[in-house]
Amino acid sequence: FSHALSSLDKADLVTSDRRHLLHPQHHPSDSADPFVWVHGDGVFLTDIDGRRVIDGLSGMWNVSLGHGRRELVDAATRQLSRLAFSTAYAGATHPPAIALADRLAGLVPPSIHAFYFTSGGGEATDSSIRTARYYWRALGKSAKTTVIARELSYHGSTLGAASATGVAEFSEVFGPRLPGFHHIASPYPYRFTSAPGDRRSIGEAAADLLEEAIVRIGPHNVAAFIAEPIQGGGGGIIVPTDDYFPRIRAICDRYDVLLIADEVITGFGRTGRWFGLDHWGVRPDIMQFAKGITSGYIPLGGMGVSERIKSVLDGAPPERRWWHGYTNSAHPVACAVALETIRVLDEEGLVERAARQGARLLQHLRNALADHPNVGDIRGQGLLVGLELVADRPSKERFAASDAIGERVRRELLKRGLYTRVLPDIICLAPPLVTPEQVIDQIADIVVTSIEAVL
Ligand code: PLP
Repeated sequence: FSHALSSLDKADLVTSDRRHLLHPQHHPSDSADPFVWVHGDGVFLTDIDGRRVIDGLSGMWNVSLGHGRRELVDAATRQLSRLAFSTAYAGATHPPAIALADRLAGLVPPSIHAFYFTSGGGEATDSSIRTARYYWRALGKSAKTTVIARELSYHGSTLGAASATGVAEFSEVFGPRLPGFHHIASPYPYRFTSAPGDRRSIGEAAADLLEEAIVRIGPHNVAAFIAEPIQGGGGGIIVPTDDYFPRIRAICDRYDVLLIADEVITGFGRTGRWFGLDHWGVRPDIMQFAKGITSGYIPLGGMGVSERIKSVLDGAPPERRWWHGYTNSAHPVACAVALETIRVLDEEGLVERAARQGARLLQHLRNALADHPNVGDIRGQGLLVGLELVADRPSKERFAASDAIGERVRRELLKRGLYTRVLPDIICLAPPLVTPEQVIDQIADIVVTSIEAVL
């Protein structure tokens, strides 16, 4: 394979791309001069012109083992040769799915007991929500259907997941969200403001918004609360304070509301623990995942449910069964790659490594930028780091959208060899968990010099 392709090839590809390809969150202005990625090795991506840059976002927050891992390719090809597809419907099953569910059971928080597999995170969100509603209905509480989520959350683009997503733009252009979804404020330590005189901590005040919402809507109407342990794609890396999730758990218990943890980004070691909620010892009723479970080598997502939920599914009469399923549920090749991903994460100690490397990255950024007048906040957990740029530090005032600061910084980062996302003025860093120390330092240096060049 050669990536020394001519620029004519690129021009042809781009013309064809513009004509026939719709991209996620499509807009032609995004692709004025698109990167045409043709090769990946370790933490580097190379484009068709031969430019090699650091993959600062692990693909799309998923390629945690880096590019070109032979073990994952071998795991996929072995399973493809043996049995490329087998359904898990109608009494059928197969060893990779069984082995994966078994392995996960020993890895997840102890409240989670049985697993269902999808092709990605959005399907996982819909599966969780439908399961929460099914559960209450099966227990005779069929009014419990409302799902409470948070502003600045991202849960996916299927209709249910987009309705749970708390970024208004993702729904407005398509018309209303589905009924039965309600949003409360994000526990955003940098920007959360309590009422004057409120003596609660930010975490307590933010968690109490859930209680207020449940009481207002009526506990008999609320099925579940869904939350990313650390908000990612919607909010730009928002790490709650330590008191937030324990209080959320207590509120969910008080009102019989299921807690759904959306671990699509935070799962599988990204934050320095196997799962995000592990940082606070909080046990969800449903936990959904995707992305890092296969290091992005093949699509797989899913959810785990508690023993209580599984027993309700198991106890239903056949005609009232959990009527939910996808053709690609528990795809054997994806399950085989997931098992291998987990083996590598475990054997190479990459979860602990993410904690160490993340701390190094944060420290480096803080040392260099803590006093910069346009750096409002530097935050993160493990290798999930966000740097919020502001027009004015004392007032935390944001840049005007027309300044396009985030986009200018993104281009500067790229020019200096770092590919990542800036949402819209928050630089998101989530490099592969295998990123060597010197590349971690290089990432920090590029961020510092790029900010200094633009601002
Ligand atoms: N949930 C979270 C927290 C995510 O970050 C994402 C995607 O970024 C999703 C769900 C949706 O996953 P997918 O794009 O695989 O449908």
